[in-house]
Amino acid sequence: MQGLVRSGQVPLESAQSTKHGVHRGMSSVTIPPPACMLRPLEAPFRYLFGPGPSNVPPRVLAAGGRPIIGHMHSEMFGIMNDIKKGIQYAFQTSNNMTLAMSGSGHTAMECALFNIVEPGESVLVAINGIWGERVAEISERMGAKVHTLVKTPGGHFTNAEIEQALAKHKPVLFFLTHGESSAGLVHPVDGVGDICHKYNCLLLVDSVASLGAAPLLMDQQNIDILYTGSQKALNAPPGTAPISFSERACHKMFNRKAKPVSYLLDMTHLSNYWGNDGKPERTYHHTGPVSGFFALRESLAILAETGLENSWKHHTEVAEYFWKGLEDLGLKLFIKDKDLRLPSVTTIAIPEGYNWKELLAYIMKHHRIEFTGGLGPSVGMLLRIGLMGYNCNKANAAMALAALEDALKQCRMSKA
Ligand code: PMP
Repeated sequence: MQGLVRSGQVPLESAQSTKHGVHRGMSSVTIPPPACMLRPLEAPFRYLFGPGPSNVPPRVLAAGGRPIIGHMHSEMFGIMNDIKKGIQYAFQTSNNMTLAMSGSGHTAMECALFNIVEPGESVLVAINGIWGERVAEISERMGAKVHTLVKTPGGHFTNAEIEQALAKHKPVLFFLTHGESSAGLVHPVDGVGDICHKYNCLLLVDSVASLGAAPLLMDQQNIDILYTGSQKALNAPPGTAPISFSERACHKMFNRKAKPVSYLLDMTHLSNYWGNDGKPERTYHHTGPVSGFFALRESLAILAETGLENSWKHHTEVAEYFWKGLEDLGLKLFIKDKDLRLPSVTTIAIPEGYNWKELLAYIMKHHRIEFTGGLGPSVGMLLRIGLMGYNCNKANAAMALAALEDALKQCRMSKA
């Protein structure tokens, strides 16, 4: 153990307690090092064909594995500036207030709500799966008046239904999930921004599961706040979340009566950290995930090299090949209308005569492939298979189909 003691540290065997604390002579440590920590890290290889995270390509892993630099070094600010440009391209926006959150998709969701909505204000939330439920809960916790538009998982809302609810509730914010990963639905967005603005309401859209896989144009579709996650079609590790705010959204969030409840997610500070507030100096707010930002930059670079339109087209082609293969196996796709199917996450009705948990466990054990079941309101209704970004190709689709075919042969429940 002596070899492990670094200069400046007190060796355990020579520590002793005094009235001021621990000094030389006697150990005060009563909890021994846990045996698991003395073993090397084990993380098996898995084909991550669930709704995320997806496998990370070697190039992105390598970027994340580079030696870190300080979060306030000028080179780091340069990398953050690149990330901002990469997000502007991925979102198709020229919004200055574009950045990546230090945290997962939920961080961006909370950042949008905490900064835009003040306690007592009304929000309207479209719920057709778990993500609307989450947004409704977060809004309620922060003291907003929450109104909901609800459909069962897989349902979608017409612009007329949305307009009627906006006229009735007069919310300051309307939330819609573009890629409803718990149902496998891609929601139409055309015209929704215009309707929201007619009622003086901001449009917040979640594109965590759809960005890079299904067409979405922030500026052209008049979306006020758009966020995504790093770990889906972008194929970076989980833990960073791009977000962008329109001028209209900035006007609302920077003219609040009271400061937002979260210090960490306060956009006044974050806009300075990202160099978006026009001030000459960036000052310390929090220590951003340096390695996560390296990886995110690389994943955005891959998307820029591929081209958004190519990426959308590729996801659609692979998804269509996969859907046909599923139907050939006798499986039923959960979203009937092809145009409303999310190309990145396919949902299948649980086949009759099977226990869905057994199917998933069999495929994980025998094929090292992760698929998942439903989430929130869709639990027990469907299976979810994601082929996103780096994972999105016909070879992987064929592998997923072969694993399902095998599981369908092996896991049929006996009638007895
Ligand atoms: N929105 C959608 C559509 C998602 O699919 C997810 C993640 N499954 C989230 C939000 C939440 O993201 P995270 O798990 O990164 O917090």
